[in-house]
Amino acid sequence: MGLTISYKDNQLILPEINCCCGVEHQRPDLDVYIGEGILAGIVDYLGKRKLGKKALVIADENTYRVAGEETIRLLRAGGFTVTLCLLEREEELEPDEAALGEILLALEQGIDFLVAVGSGSINDLTRYVAFHTGRPFVSVATAASMDGYTSVVAPLLARGLKVNKPATYPQVLICDLEIIKNAPYPMVISGFGDIIGKYIAKADWILGRIINQEAYCPVAAALISQAVEKCLQQLDGIKNRTPEGIKRMMEALILSGLTILMLGHTRPVASIEHNMAHYWEMIKLSRGEKAPRHGTAVGVATLYAARFYALFLAEEWKTLDLERIRQARPAKTVWEKAVLDAYGEKIGPLILRDNPGEYLDWPEQERRLQALCRDLRLIKEELAFLPGPEKLEEVFRELGAPTTAAEVGIDKDTLRKSLLYAKDYRERYTVFKTVNEAGKLEEWVERVLHW
Ligand SMILES: [Zn+2]
Ligand SMILES: [Zn+2]
Repeated sequence: MGLTISYKDNQLILPEINCCCGVEHQRPDLDVYIGEGILAGIVDYLGKRKLGKKALVIADENTYRVAGEETIRLLRAGGFTVTLCLLEREEELEPDEAALGEILLALEQGIDFLVAVGSGSINDLTRYVAFHTGRPFVSVATAASMDGYTSVVAPLLARGLKVNKPATYPQVLICDLEIIKNAPYPMVISGFGDIIGKYIAKADWILGRIINQEAYCPVAAALISQAVEKCLQQLDGIKNRTPEGIKRMMEALILSGLTILMLGHTRPVASIEHNMAHYWEMIKLSRGEKAPRHGTAVGVATLYAARFYALFLAEEWKTLDLERIRQARPAKTVWEKAVLDAYGEKIGPLILRDNPGEYLDWPEQERRLQALCRDLRLIKEELAFLPGPEKLEEVFRELGAPTTAAEVGIDKDTLRKSLLYAKDYRERYTVFKTVNEAGKLEEWVERVLHW
């Protein structure tokens, strides 16, 4: 597929999308700029959008130092009136109610638009305030740490609990590689983890398409795959944080985000590896502990999921004893209790409420198993793109990224529970469901744990 992105004066231009997958493709309404030293062009970039003259810049101490101060200088020199909301913290900034309150207090009369200078948390806080106050916002990226710059959901913390709130995406996103390449290395690892997870998301999507006739957009899948492959070809550049390496990462992260806007859902970029990472985060937060960085957790979860896929692809799937599988099915009440135990009393009931179709009746389970056996050759052919777990581990080692749950602070029991129950976090189909429906989940989880 001839799907090449291009640039015009550092502005990213998406290819014309001619796709007949049946899903409506939206063209996101935002300007993305990627290049070295391009923050200098901010006044021109904003000028094209007519956002007004009075800006509120939101930054923390780190992002103020690396980009906020310069952003403000440039804006003032360009005739804008600028107020700064500096979120000063002893520790890392959390996207919580205190931070939201500070931004609202800084939102004086007459402010036309917001400028988020930062990465995950600052953008999430800003997108939420922008959405609720009906103001546009601009994002000055400071790290290639996650794919959520253009997200329309803000993951926030309310009294220590994670809540995902509707929000909005920026009208202008400025990715100055001179700034981004100097972000702390753990943020690079995080961005890379979020990118490498796309392999599992794609594999699960293909599986869902073949077994459950899920809607599938080949153009979205190809756009992301190309960007991921380009990153893998730039491992040295990423490790040494060359402009080229960081640019490839930023492209992959931004294309992932744009694909979500294009299709209106996260199917192409998130599946079981994200569920596992969310599960770990929930458990850590519920204990009052610090959760691992999002993308880093996704990367580690990707390795476990890749092992699962390796088992899946090696299996012949010839000996499915449907009657034995049917007999061994847990009753709905037993399964519900297990989910409630795994997710805890606060989140467990929400998981059950939000996924009413998660527990399958037997005819549906049988249909899926028959589809698996019938289409096995096609499934294996289409999943041939997946790199094996050893190959992925090698890549992680080369970058110095963590490869085990223990390294990101996840204990054995939480890891086991995530392998068993992260699939129930949402109804989205994954190989973990296939294996569960075939009655082999517990056995395989042990095999993955003792890899
Ligand atoms: Zn992610
Ligand atoms: Zn399509």
